[in-house]
Formats: sequence, structure tokens, C-alpha cells
Amino acid sequence: MSDKAYLDWPFLEPHHRVLERELDAWAGQHLTASHGDDVDAECRALVVALGSGGWLRLAVGGRDFGGQADEIDTRAICLVRETLARHSGLADFTFAMQGLGSGAISLYGTDEQKAAYLPRVAAGEAIAAFALSEPEAGSDVAAMSCQARLENGEYVLDGVKTWISNGGIADFYLVFARTGEAPGSRGISAFIVDADTPGLEIAGRIEVTAPHPLATLRFTGCRVPRSGLVGELGQGFKVAMSTLDVFRTSVAAAALGFARRALDESLARTTSRAMFGGRLADFQLTQARLAEMATGIDAAALLTYRAAWLRDRGGRVTKEAAMAKMTATETAQRVVDGAVQLWGGLGVTRGQVVESLYREVRALRIYEGATEVQGLIVARELIKGFEAGLEKGDA
Ligand SMILES: Cc1cc2nc3c(=O)[nH]c(=O)nc-3n(C[C@H](O)[C@H](O)[C@H](O)COP(=O)(O)OP(=O)(O)OC[C@H]3O[C@@H](n4cnc5c(N)ncnc54)[C@H](O)[C@@H]3O)c2cc1C
Repeated sequence: MSDKAYLDWPFLEPHHRVLERELDAWAGQHLTASHGDDVDAECRALVVALGSGGWLRLAVGGRDFGGQADEIDTRAICLVRETLARHSGLADFTFAMQGLGSGAISLYGTDEQKAAYLPRVAAGEAIAAFALSEPEAGSDVAAMSCQARLENGEYVLDGVKTWISNGGIADFYLVFARTGEAPGSRGISAFIVDADTPGLEIAGRIEVTAPHPLATLRFTGCRVPRSGLVGELGQGFKVAMSTLDVFRTSVAAAALGFARRALDESLARTTSRAMFGGRLADFQLTQARLAEMATGIDAAALLTYRAAWLRDRGGRVTKEAAMAKMTATETAQRVVDGAVQLWGGLGVTRGQVVESLYREVRALRIYEGATEVQGLIVARELIKGFEAGLEKGDA
């Protein structure tokens, strides 16, 4: 049974605690850690289940558009992801993508865009996806080459996007493309592209360690109406980064969910496994490992909920979100690996929870900015702050 003491931390409000309790009970009834081979069908079913359970209302912002609240509640999103990840990696993935794929609309969309997409996302009637990465532009997002040129009042998209979660099952994609106002990150814009738009095709599906729908998209003369532009022209990088401020922090929360489940599994196994005339949990080497796991989880959780709390108070939290993501995903990897070790041969056996956690946790250190990229972000913000202080004469 998970230690829920973190729910009493001052970062959270009473309604967050109620949310966690209700979702945990719902997830216990509706979700399982293992899933079958047809992940497309399972994800579609999970979107419907999470939608009818009312949980996807937390993935979008705006009460008038199906959201639970007028603003995106980052702490609620984190709690949902942490809770779902404890029960099912695929359910966490499904919830996260509904939020990430529609986040730019919640944050920067016009009322027409919000009305057209958010209620369906919140109800589980439309599946969302976020298309930023390209074969030559992963960590280096500003190197993207996908183009959008204005022609006869429409934007025409040409290029390739890859690693797109929900690719192949999404109803619409939030696509970032170069509109050329300026070089690098300043010449990018964001567009909503419906999945059935002519000129958009699924160029290939990608299989990954923890299976979920993932694809490469190709745009060839794909015409998008002017009304599909999200935010201002040339501001797409800002749109992407603000969306990631919320969802990067939530990746940290998902990592916490996997780590907490791994700790629960470790406690269950070590207190029941008989060996050398005692239990595995009786040995000090085991206890040191359990202590390290629990301490790492709490440290990561403090950074995660600090970032979420700051984001909910308003403003950018680039540094704090990066610190949280970097720490939580690296910690979760160590915790899950430790759990596999404590389970011995069973730990690497298909069908065991810790074995699936081992596969689930790995990609989190890579997507939405690899650990090394988060390190760069933290350092850049530190240096910026230091130099700004020097200019003001603080030093
Ligand atoms: C399962 C999965 C789901 C994904 N879903 C989506 C999605 O829905 N939408 C989307 O747009 N993208 C998605 N991605 C893409 C993801 O964001 C990229 O994989 C990620 O940004 C890394 O880019 P890359 O794979 O091209 O690796 P590269 O950019 O080639 O980086 C490789 C490695 O280099 C290291 N590195 C990077 N920069 C530096 C540096 N400056 N200094 C030192 N080392 C560095 C890091 O270890 C990094 O992992 C997904 C990826 C995966 C694996």
C-alpha cells in the first residue's frame, strides 16, 4: 500500500486530495498494469473510459469547453498521472496525450478552436496528438524543417514529423512548422491539423519498448485553413514550450507513479520472500536499498509538486519543470531497476508488474526533452539569473 503522506504537503489543496482518493478507487476497479497486444484498441477504449469517468475534464482548460476548471490545474494533472501510472502505464499515456495534444488549444486557442476541439477531448470523443519532433530535430527542436507557407488564404504544410504518440489513432494533431518569420526558434508556428486532411499520411508505425501508438507522419501539400493557426504567427516555439511547462512536470509525476508502484512491489516481495532463515527484508543491504528508494521518491516528489504549484500560481516555470523532470525520471529508473533486482528472476519474467514497470519507465528519460537537455535548461536559467543579477549590481 502506497505511502500517501505527500498528499498532506502544502503544495496541494483539499480538492486535490479528494481527486486522488476518487481516482485511485476508480483506477482500482477499471485498470490493470498489464495489457494485450492491440494497443490501438486498448488506447481507444481507455480514452472512452477516462472520458466517461470524467477524468479527461482535467486534461483541458476552460469550464465552457468541457474543462473541470477555467485554467489548467497542473497539480491535478500531476496527481492524475501519478495515480494512473501506479495502476497502468497505458492509462497514464492516454490521459497525458489528451492533455499534451490539446494543451496548446487550452493555453492559446481562440474560443472557436476551443469550442471545436476541447469538449470532444474532455469527453473522450476525439483523440489528440502533439507533433513537434522530426528525424533531424529531436533535442534540437529549433532545427525543424517542416514548412507551412501561406497560399490563397490557406497554410500548406510539407515535411515529416516522427515519434508522434497517438500517431495513427489521433483525430487531430497539433503540428509545429516553420513559417519563416525569423531563423531558428523564432520562425515556427503551431497548427491544428485534422487527421483526415488530404496530404497528411501515416508514413510508418514505430514499435517501442513499452508499446503504445507511435508513428511517423508525412505532410505533402497538406492544406490547413487560416483558422487552424494556434497562437500568433512565429510564436510556435513559445506555444510549444509553455505547453511543455505543464506537461514536462507531469512526466515527472508519471515517473513518480511508476516509482511508487515499484516501491510497493518491493516492500510486498521483500517482506514475504523467505531466505537464509529469515526474510529478504531483514537484511541491512535490502533495507538500505528500500530507504534509498523511498528517499529518492520523496525528493523527486517535492521538486515535482513545487513545479506544479508554481505553475498554478502563474508564469513560466521552465527551470523548475526541468529540475523536476530530470530528477524524477532518473530516480524512477533507479527505483524500478532496484525493484527488479529485489524480485530476482521473477523480476525479469513477463507478466510481472516490476518487469512491465522496467519497460514503461525507460522512455521518460528521453521524451519531452532528454535528461541532458533538462540539465542544459537548468544551467541556462541559472546563468541568465546570475548575469541579470550582475547587471543590476547584486553581486
Ligand atoms: C516513446 C516516445 C514517445 C514520443 N512522443 C512524442 C510525441 O508525442 N510528440 C513529439 O513531438 N515527440 C515525441 N517523442 C520524441 C522525443 O521528444 C524525442 O525522442 C526527444 O526529444 C529526443 O530526440 P531524438 O530522439 O531525436 O534524440 P537526439 O536529439 O538525437 O538525442 C539523443 C541523445 O543525445 C543526448 N543529448 C541531446 N542533447 C544533448 C546535449 N546538448 N548535450 C549532450 N547530450 C545531449 C541525450 O541523451 C539524447 O537522448 C517521443 C519519443 C519517444 C521515445
